[in-house]
Amino acid sequence: MLPLPAGCPLRVTNLPMSEACQRVKPPAPVRRWQTNLVPAVLLALSLLNVGWAWVGYRYGRHWYRFLFRSRPRGVVIHHTASDGWRDGKLLDAAAIDHDHAARDFGLKYHGRVYHIGYHYVILADGTVQPGRPEEAPGAHTTAHNDYLGICLVGNFSSAGNPDGRMQPARPTEKQLTALIALVRRLMDKYDFEVSDIYRHRDLDQTECPGDRFPFQQVIKELGVTGNRRSGVDSRG
Ligand SMILES: [Zn+2]
Repeated sequence: MLPLPAGCPLRVTNLPMSEACQRVKPPAPVRRWQTNLVPAVLLALSLLNVGWAWVGYRYGRHWYRFLFRSRPRGVVIHHTASDGWRDGKLLDAAAIDHDHAARDFGLKYHGRVYHIGYHYVILADGTVQPGRPEEAPGAHTTAHNDYLGICLVGNFSSAGNPDGRMQPARPTEKQLTALIALVRRLMDKYDFEVSDIYRHRDLDQTECPGDRFPFQQVIKELGVTGNRRSGVDSRG
């Protein structure tokens, strides 16, 4: 008897040995992806479910906005360059909205007109008020209205408000505390870094938010306690 070719599974056959071995194919190995396919599909479906549950929780009946949303790129800080009070009342987002209406800053967004160009206003007493929705483009910094605009009420410029006639002439402690908390929240929400936080004057020919605005202090604090990827920024 001729020796069987190596790997030939046959022992007895009426065919010539070499031909028989050619006809017998070894069983196809079960590929790993076939055995893993079912759990992989189940995992993908459950992840999809969790994803849609989050979209439903975050956007509610406006879930489709998730598909069209545009993400802001960072934050620009402003001051109103005005007194913090008007007619004995705190100057607030409604008053700024009224002022901006005269400057034709109007934007119609989901059925409502917003004149105010900022996304947030921080009043002299530290109250944070919403302006435009975060998803809407701003009207606060030329060519950078895809950034969120935050405006502190007051005039922090020693050139524009040398004698401090307009108060607050520098941001109050309550305004700074509110600003840092707000920016920190936005950094976490949109994954901004400290280098995504600007003053208006960093981007445009303006003094805004004035030389009395302690940008270094704000940036330093955000670098320590802000977004987990952030480092301390060196801008002055
Ligand atoms: Zn400004």
